[in-house]
Amino acid sequence: MPQPSASLESPIRAALSTVDDPEINRPITELGMVESVTVSEAGVVAVRVLLTVSGCPMKDKLTRDVTAAVSRVDGVTGVQVELGVMSDAQRTELRTKLRGDAPANEIPFAQPGSRTRVYAVASGKGGVGKSSVTVNIAAALAAKGLSVGVVDADIYGFSVPRMLGVTGKPTQVDQMIMPPSAHDVKVISIGMFTPGNTAVVWRGPMLHRALQQFLADVFWGDLDVLLMDLPPGTGDIAISVAQLVPAAELLVVTTPQLAAREVAERAGSIALQTHQQIVGVVENMSWLDMPDGSRMELFGSGGGQAVADSLAASTGTRVPLLGQIPIDQTVREGGDSGAPVVLTAPDSPAAQALNAVAETLAARSRSLVGRSLGLTPSR
Ligand code: ADP
Repeated sequence: MPQPSASLESPIRAALSTVDDPEINRPITELGMVESVTVSEAGVVAVRVLLTVSGCPMKDKLTRDVTAAVSRVDGVTGVQVELGVMSDAQRTELRTKLRGDAPANEIPFAQPGSRTRVYAVASGKGGVGKSSVTVNIAAALAAKGLSVGVVDADIYGFSVPRMLGVTGKPTQVDQMIMPPSAHDVKVISIGMFTPGNTAVVWRGPMLHRALQQFLADVFWGDLDVLLMDLPPGTGDIAISVAQLVPAAELLVVTTPQLAAREVAERAGSIALQTHQQIVGVVENMSWLDMPDGSRMELFGSGGGQAVADSLAASTGTRVPLLGQIPIDQTVREGGDSGAPVVLTAPDSPAAQALNAVAETLAARSRSLVGRSLGLTPSR
């Protein structure tokens, strides 16, 4: 007769295969993280799990998840989880498993077969709500079940982690950077790599390298959508994005104000030089709903449509106004507390407008047909 402990091993392995590594989102059994499983005669299970890095911020969750999964197996009377750390060789093997033979600095989103839609969110000037729009669209898309990542490349602001409530830090496995996440959105911010709150003078080439690293060395997994929060203005970074991910499309955020409109048009017109498509315009802070039901247009009106029309005329493509987001205290509060309004107050007019933009972006499927190659003929 087989030992009871031996007959438990296969259901325990099956239970372990339901546990995902919280950072990589793949079963720990597939990742080579389960080093050993032993079962005592009395049905007490000892599992040794190898962490990708020591001090992995997710180790408590991993211990809880493993314990819960194994405890559910019939006949198991107790679970002990012991944590170890992968050796360099095991980490290299893991990296190969995840990235295949792709060269270390290859950007997956720039490969011809990539199915990830990349949206670069741009604005002419700061303070128009570019980051607020980015995080709310990201959270809304993730809530729809899409796999979503955000690159916070706004060197002057790096507000995305706070707005999304991301408190974790990136961890490194071999040469891969594992992005922390919140609300099912993976986030990498330039602010995660600068000490404290210090302002860093980023020059073009440094920024280009940082962006290249974020796109190539961060393990994003199979993303449906990658949003990039660009610094305001028409700076070097927009050019870098165009070079690194030629298929990235621009999403332009503006307020209705004339001054914002003019600079937003300039920001958008960069797409002309880089041959990037403009997916559309979002007008933010469009009005304030008054208690008597009227709308107060604090920053004027018509700016978003004007930007869309002007960009359509200059690029010769269709540039829709994707939405108008009212001024709403809950948008600001959600940004301050790391709980995006699309999740916390989905019925508010601002959340509905943001959700509608996300809906439009989610419905677009990525097609390579008719896509510019981003090449400029030499003279
Ligand atoms: P940007 O990224 O363009 O610099 P932010 O997203 O940081 O702009 O927004 C600037 C400020 O305005 C933030 O405090 C944000 O919470 C607030 N804000 C943005 N959009 C709205 C809105 N629709 N209603 C109320 N406050 C908003």
